[in-house]
Amino acid sequence: MDLRLTPEQEALRQEVREWLARNLVDASKHGTVAGREWQRRLAEGGWGAPAWPVEHGGRGAGPFESHLIGQELAQAGAPGSIAVIGTGWAGPAIIAHGSEEQQRRFLPPILNGAEIWCQLFSEPDAGSDLAALRTRAERSAGAWRVHGQKIWTSYARESDYGILLARTDPESKRQQGITCFAFPMQQAEGRLEIRPIRQMDGRATFNEVFFDGAEVPDDHVIGEVGGGWAVAITTLMNERTNLSTGLGTLWGDGPTLADLVSLARGTELTPMQRQKVANLHIVSEAIRLTAYRMLSTNGTAASVTKLAADRWGQQVNELAVELLGMDGLLTDDQGGRARAGFAEHGRQGGFPPPIGWQRAFLFAPALTIGGGTTEVQKNILAQRVLGLPRER
Ligand SMILES: Cc1cc2nc3c(=O)[nH]c(=O)nc-3n(C[C@H](O)[C@H](O)[C@H](O)COP(=O)(O)OP(=O)(O)OC[C@H]3O[C@@H](n4cnc5c(N)ncnc54)[C@H](O)[C@@H]3O)c2cc1C
Repeated sequence: MDLRLTPEQEALRQEVREWLARNLVDASKHGTVAGREWQRRLAEGGWGAPAWPVEHGGRGAGPFESHLIGQELAQAGAPGSIAVIGTGWAGPAIIAHGSEEQQRRFLPPILNGAEIWCQLFSEPDAGSDLAALRTRAERSAGAWRVHGQKIWTSYARESDYGILLARTDPESKRQQGITCFAFPMQQAEGRLEIRPIRQMDGRATFNEVFFDGAEVPDDHVIGEVGGGWAVAITTLMNERTNLSTGLGTLWGDGPTLADLVSLARGTELTPMQRQKVANLHIVSEAIRLTAYRMLSTNGTAASVTKLAADRWGQQVNELAVELLGMDGLLTDDQGGRARAGFAEHGRQGGFPPPIGWQRAFLFAPALTIGGGTTEVQKNILAQRVLGLPRER
């Protein structure tokens, strides 16, 4: 495989760089408002959702070009995007399965950051086995009433809409009888409760969501009533491909390998630690080149990159905390050397705010769970890529 950029790809890279040189100034603020503002600015520049078709405000960029743009943004220290679930997961599902009217209604505000989306899929007894979901929606006078519970919903409190999977046929089993909705997160008092879940890194980026008769208009059904599983598959494939497009160790976000190398340069290393740093560099190159190869194959193979990148991200953060010694026990706000080595490569503002080594280390175990666990990725590879028999 020839990994050199074509003249068109080189020109695209140059275009992103020039745009970033003019627009990255003053993109250092944190929080939801700043996150929406950054997405609006990206959209104005034509970088809001590069993979979307041109008629919906994208650039029609292929997987490699999208990856290239993501890498350039990350390399320049661009803010993390609060709009990622909208642009990366929900938007493509609406483009593939939504009506023209839904596309006109929902896509522009996703693109320009006016409406933020979350993903209402996982439930307490339906994670890897998503088809076991029990949240139900019942038809009622031109609308649907939702009852049940979701969990691990990232950014639920910041979101305007959620892409929701609910069972609309109470008699149905597994993948049948599930419908996908564009669910409005603003609901009448008492119909929706969002409870933040405190994570061990001290933040609360995900939530429990309780529905008690929450209402969704009938025209917010995406795809067919009872045909939600097909929409879910589109969403999950996009989720897997969109995770880890940047340079950071936390799904493309957070500290980078370059940050670790800077930290290592300022630390007295044992021979074993030197070897670990070198090994992580080698693995990082292998993942980068494998990702290029996977981008030109089918979506299922994205599991290869996710598997390798998730464990690598954990190892980088584990080694950083080891190198920090006693300072590794301190969180960002407790002083110490929480952000040692970040000077050159730290990301600017955005949402959620950048974090130091200790919080990154405490978040890293989530990498091999979210977006499909390591075991689930291995099952996908075994069955759909390698064609091995299913367990009996
Ligand atoms: C940071 C983060 C953000 C998230 N954000 C969202 C979100 O915004 N919206 C949302 O809907 N969900 C979200 N999730 C939830 C995520 O999709 C689930 O955690 C994930 O699908 C695993 O489901 P589970 O937690 O129920 O674990 P389970 O499915 O209960 O798995 C428990 C263990 O059993 C193993 N296992 C399960 N089935 C098999 C099998 N068939 N073969 C082998 N091993 C198996 C798993 O690998 C795991 O080790 C998020 C998760 C994380 C960590």
